[in-house]
Amino acid sequence: MTIDEIVLHSRSLLDMKPSQVIKKTQETYPNVRGFAVFPVYAPHEIIHAAGLMPVGLYGAGDQLEITHADSRFQSFICSIAKSTLELFLADEMDGFVGIAFSSICDVARNLASVVSRNTEGIYVEYLHLPQNMASEQSQTYTRSEYERFRRKLAEHVGRPITDAAISESLKLYNEQRRLIRAIYAYRQDHPGSISAAELTCITKAGTRMMPGDYLTILKDVMEQLPQRPAHARDTVRVVVEGAFCEQPPIELIEAIEAAGCEIRDDDMMLGWRLFTGDVSEQGDPLTALANAYLNESVYCSTRHDYYHPRTEGLLARVRDSGAKAVLFTPAKFCEPALLDYVLFKRCLDDKGVPHLKLEFEEKMWTFEAPRTEVETFAESMLFD
Ligand code: SF4
Repeated sequence: MTIDEIVLHSRSLLDMKPSQVIKKTQETYPNVRGFAVFPVYAPHEIIHAAGLMPVGLYGAGDQLEITHADSRFQSFICSIAKSTLELFLADEMDGFVGIAFSSICDVARNLASVVSRNTEGIYVEYLHLPQNMASEQSQTYTRSEYERFRRKLAEHVGRPITDAAISESLKLYNEQRRLIRAIYAYRQDHPGSISAAELTCITKAGTRMMPGDYLTILKDVMEQLPQRPAHARDTVRVVVEGAFCEQPPIELIEAIEAAGCEIRDDDMMLGWRLFTGDVSEQGDPLTALANAYLNESVYCSTRHDYYHPRTEGLLARVRDSGAKAVLFTPAKFCEPALLDYVLFKRCLDDKGVPHLKLEFEEKMWTFEAPRTEVETFAESMLFD
């Protein structure tokens, strides 16, 4: 497939509901079942080693009317929580064995319980990821949490999940993450070769494919990028921050780019490209995964790393990507993103880095207002 065809294919996958994704996958892999992963992160390797397809569950976007979930939640809550529950209540999760939530925020914690109480026949896991990255016990603790997940998942699928199978999956996901890092790096060196909207479509669609098939797609992209004409423009180079959980609509990213910004780096789909390098393929795979989570993850508002402040992480992201400004794109009512925004804003103000905040929600139909805001922001920098 050409890159244009890959983007189109990715968009068609993103338009599907989770049950349709599994049905489509079963045309090629008749016996496969899905296992949903609520953002930000879960060890996909364990799920894949169980013979399941890990599927990123990022709510339902604008594909589903919220008719049942509203009655289970307060009004002031992020869209992804409501539409995720709605997917279960509206029977749109056929073909899934279960779902993993993790300890990213109070909303996700409650959502795991609400999904569990309101659905039958689906395994709901809540992963207690460590809150203290520096303690000597964190490594042992994290590994034991992954071990607990492996044991319970094995009971649900009725087969053992061996170290050898996890190691094989680890190699696949390492290669996947490596290629995504390479494509991001290529885009930084060759602005205009692939837009952030296109790349986001591809990275998000990758969470709806079997990892082996996704690798073929990433290799095709990487191979074809040098032949793709790059259109250089006068733009403001920005980093997009705050989109680590609920994902901004693709139309919002398009609006940001059309308004004169070049997105140099971002934290979209963060959990699927969390690690700064390869996870070790030597020795015990669960220990390697635990070590990667604790010591080789990029910063994120849902990971509390006392020794590596997130403000430093953002400044490094700006510096390393050559960006001149930051666009904050928190989901409406997203506590981790909005609380961190206060710290980030203070830090950027101190360093003289311009920034703009654009909140979004799933049911956004028009993008004229954010586009105008970004245009004004970009022009104020370009013509300063
Ligand atoms: S969008 Fe924010 S508040 Fe909502 S579940 Fe995700 S991290 Fe939690």
